[in-house]
Amino acid sequence: MATEKKAIIVGAGLVGSLWAVYLSKAGYKVNIYERRPDIRRAEISAGKSINLALSNRGWKALDAVGVGDEIRKIAIPMYGRIMHDMEGNLTNQPYGKEGQAIFSISRGGVNAKMMDIAEEYGNANIRYDVECTGVDTKTGVVKLKDLNSGETFTDQADVVFAADGAFSAVRYKTFQKLDGFNFSQRYIADGYREILLPANADGSYKLDKNALHIWPRGKFMLIALANEDGSFTCTLFMPHAGDANAFDKLNTKEQVDRFFKTTFPDFYEMMPDIADAWEDHPLSSLAIMRSYPWHFDKVALMGDAAHATVPFYGQGMNAGFEDCTVMWELMQKHNEDWSKIFPEYSELRKPDGDALQDLSLDNYFVMRDYVADPAFLLQKKIEAKFSSLYPDKWMPLYSQVTFSEIRYSDAYNSGQRQDKIMKEVMSEVANIEGNWDSEEVMQAILTKLNA
Ligand SMILES: Cc1cc2nc3c(=O)[nH]c(=O)nc-3n(C[C@H](O)[C@H](O)[C@H](O)COP(=O)(O)OP(=O)(O)OC[C@H]3O[C@@H](n4cnc5c(N)ncnc54)[C@H](O)[C@@H]3O)c2cc1C
Repeated sequence: MATEKKAIIVGAGLVGSLWAVYLSKAGYKVNIYERRPDIRRAEISAGKSINLALSNRGWKALDAVGVGDEIRKIAIPMYGRIMHDMEGNLTNQPYGKEGQAIFSISRGGVNAKMMDIAEEYGNANIRYDVECTGVDTKTGVVKLKDLNSGETFTDQADVVFAADGAFSAVRYKTFQKLDGFNFSQRYIADGYREILLPANADGSYKLDKNALHIWPRGKFMLIALANEDGSFTCTLFMPHAGDANAFDKLNTKEQVDRFFKTTFPDFYEMMPDIADAWEDHPLSSLAIMRSYPWHFDKVALMGDAAHATVPFYGQGMNAGFEDCTVMWELMQKHNEDWSKIFPEYSELRKPDGDALQDLSLDNYFVMRDYVADPAFLLQKKIEAKFSSLYPDKWMPLYSQVTFSEIRYSDAYNSGQRQDKIMKEVMSEVANIEGNWDSEEVMQAILTKLNA
């Protein structure tokens, strides 16, 4: 009789629960240990858990194990950004070609669905309220603690996956103590706070649900993504301190009320009681965590545990799901020989994790600032025109990241090159505002591209 293949996953978040489905499909008995209680039993309304933007890479990973259609039932397409200026004027910027969209999904909703599927699909067992306190990478012995009883115990498997998030215990308690492990953690100056914009009394949406709304204000911004129940989860990103508009200036209801009234007037009109809701969600920080290698012996990091990033490209979860795609492909390539899979996974995927982190930081400036800049909007218009004329020569960076499976590292490099070309053309062509879609401009781009 063949011996049973066994795997342990630490963390039943978005990546851990999806990876459990993959491993079940490959015939593994999967034990998953999750620190939190079962979210399916806890009352989680859309507003209490943030929603996320899901795009191509995520869909690909979900569809490969037949989970995509279940998630489609709870996904709201967003075809573009709608920018809200100080006067309440709206500017619409499509994300890609007609019909292309990113999708607003509830974190709790997706996580719960995937846990259901992981448990139903095959041989997967999730134990909640159990915290991992470290792993022996050589033996695959995982140290665990039952948070209800206080009891400590161990489990062991041929392969162990740490999908325990940005503050991964496996990374802190085990990898960081191992020789040759590199790690850096960079907090950015900005934090975020979520705000739930409720539905109208009749349950309808207060804003267009099929767009991602942005109130760009230079050094800070408010964004809103629709939930299924008619509400929007809004997030204010802003410096913690050290600026005229910073979280440390919003300490009283009066300060919050005045800030929203003067800075986001059209939002304030929809939610005049914003000051009362201000404390409903905590103020949180944002950080980039880089690490390498992403594996030691029998243990690999996946998702945020390996490459946590700031959320401005809406790709953290998508990248974690893509880790599943890559790991799965390597499983086929190496016939499930983990001693070959893990080193190649680390080496192949690390440049993409780094590139996504760089892209995410760059996009922060795009979202909070450049989307309101006429030169940026003109550049995007020219790029869209050129790309429609020469689709095989030019895919806009946003589309490469969001609507394709081009490696993040390749997308980053090509985006840098495209930006340089566009900046040159826009400074070299006379009266670019009037000539932006002229043959001269298109030829100038083509010449530089072919140089
Ligand atoms: C404000 C914000 C907005 C975002 N928006 C987007 C977006 O639009 N699109 C997108 O793609 N990404 C987005 N992200 C990123 C996304 O949330 C993460 O990339 C994603 O959650 C990573 O999934 P994960 O499974 O690796 O980690 P997590 O979702 O954090 O899951 C980790 C799990 O491990 C458990 N755990 C932790 N420690 C232990 C332990 N010691 N023992 C056992 N279990 C443990 C945790 O309880 C948790 O369930 C956003 C992030 C933030 C902060």
